[in-house]
Amino acid sequence: MSEVGHYINGQEVACSSGRYQPVYNPATGQSEKAVGLASVDEVNNAVTAAKAAWPSWSKTPALRRARILDKFKSLLIERSEILAKAISVEHGKTHDDALGEVTRGLEVVEFATAAPHLLKGEFSESVGSGVDSYSIRQSLGVVAGITPFNFPVMVPMWMFPVALACGNTFILKPSERDPSASLLIANWLTEAGLPDGVFNVVQGDKLAVDTLLEHPDVKAISFVGSTPIAKYIYATGTANGKRVQALGGAKNHMIIMPDADLDMAVNALMGAAYGSAGERCMAVSVAVPVTDAVADALVSKLKPKVEALEIGPSTDSASEMGPVITAEHQAKIKGYIDQGEAAGAKLVVDGREFKQSRQGYEEGYYVGGTLFDNVTEDMSIYKDEIFGPVLSVVRRPDYRSAVDLIHNCPYANGTAVFTRDGDVARAFSQDIEVGMVGINVPIPVPMAFHSFGGWKDSLFGDHSMHGMEGVRFYTRIKTTTTRWPSGQRDDPQFTMPTLG
Ligand code: NAD
Repeated sequence: MSEVGHYINGQEVACSSGRYQPVYNPATGQSEKAVGLASVDEVNNAVTAAKAAWPSWSKTPALRRARILDKFKSLLIERSEILAKAISVEHGKTHDDALGEVTRGLEVVEFATAAPHLLKGEFSESVGSGVDSYSIRQSLGVVAGITPFNFPVMVPMWMFPVALACGNTFILKPSERDPSASLLIANWLTEAGLPDGVFNVVQGDKLAVDTLLEHPDVKAISFVGSTPIAKYIYATGTANGKRVQALGGAKNHMIIMPDADLDMAVNALMGAAYGSAGERCMAVSVAVPVTDAVADALVSKLKPKVEALEIGPSTDSASEMGPVITAEHQAKIKGYIDQGEAAGAKLVVDGREFKQSRQGYEEGYYVGGTLFDNVTEDMSIYKDEIFGPVLSVVRRPDYRSAVDLIHNCPYANGTAVFTRDGDVARAFSQDIEVGMVGINVPIPVPMAFHSFGGWKDSLFGDHSMHGMEGVRFYTRIKTTTTRWPSGQRDDPQFTMPTLG
């Protein structure tokens, strides 16, 4: 049994708390590794290292910081296969899907290599006679990222490239379910020339998270995970005086209008609902066909495709969908399918009985693709984030009632409409109260130079991730007003100073 430890002050450090948790290969159901769960002292060591590294890193010219990130980017490109394999063996997603995750993370590194441009300030000449004024953005200090299991590379990379580019030092607390990729990243950052202590990893559970949330030397927390924990992180972090961005769960709807290209919508739904076994915060879990005729056609086209899904391990290039993350999660998803059936939804394709026949993978945590029709708003399969390969069809008679359905949902991460009507598309994108919108695009994940984040119960805080929002989150603004003596002397002034 190998152990996954921490990375503190430029080197791997074994866990000393004596607390461990097994890490499983979801494709086989076997565990060959255990991840250490940090003690308070171990987290404090990481904060001490990051704090010591900050004065010099924050004063390193942005161009030099960018060059280190650029070198890291080259290593990532060279080694993307290694990273993708490390993701798949602990997460279960297919190899191509893992490679896609690496690419989306790498794009944020590319964005962050523009640090000197991103951090350019503003200058106003002659705000008064002989007086100039300029604003700059400075780093915060030690910042921490707490990340979920479903993107063990991409989600940390939404955070640390921008944080480091802006001059902060970083502590990553990865998911304890797929922790190994974080150590590859840490080693490669050091290899790229990042000074010791600038990027650290502490493996752990609630104890590590709470220690970071309460530590006075941690200035900001970035979190991505489920909504109840996101709420907790936001409340606790802000109560401790920290800047917090906490991204939560999702229930993403896709409206299919009668004029949509139905085959295009069906293919889009297959990838968006069942890709990565539905374990994506931007997965489409609710299809909303407008009119019964569209719903009937949609379901009849989806059914054979869902039944034909190729479900298997990442090591088989034929696999379209892998297992889910743990045995508990597999049981939870099957429990939701039981509930949906009991509540009266029409179970068109039932994934509960799926059996993996590939030798050596029979004990993996697989769930077959599942499709429900005639789902209503009161059912748990509609209300809860299942985070599995389960698609619910909620029929609506018209566009207005489809939009009302989305607005009644507490989550507001992503959404999409499939239509050929420009008026409908424009009205949807203008009026819908959701953070990320797709027009004939099912998973509208913004590129690195835009920002990622939902609304309502999908994001707590004022800033979404990466893009200029990321730069704003990881910096604070300072404005300096300057005057140089030029022979002119003012009398003491006791009123509110005015210029001009
Ligand atoms: P999770 O909330 O269980 O865990 C996320 C992180 O929080 C992990 O690092 C975990 O160790 C930590 N954590 C868990 N319980 C905690 C507690 N009680 N106190 C303190 N810390 C705790 O989420 P998950 O199951 O790893 O990931 C799936 C969830 O993440 C889904 O809800 C998904 O929608 C969401 N997600 C959201 C986005 C987004 O951008 N909005 C992106 C990816 C995933």
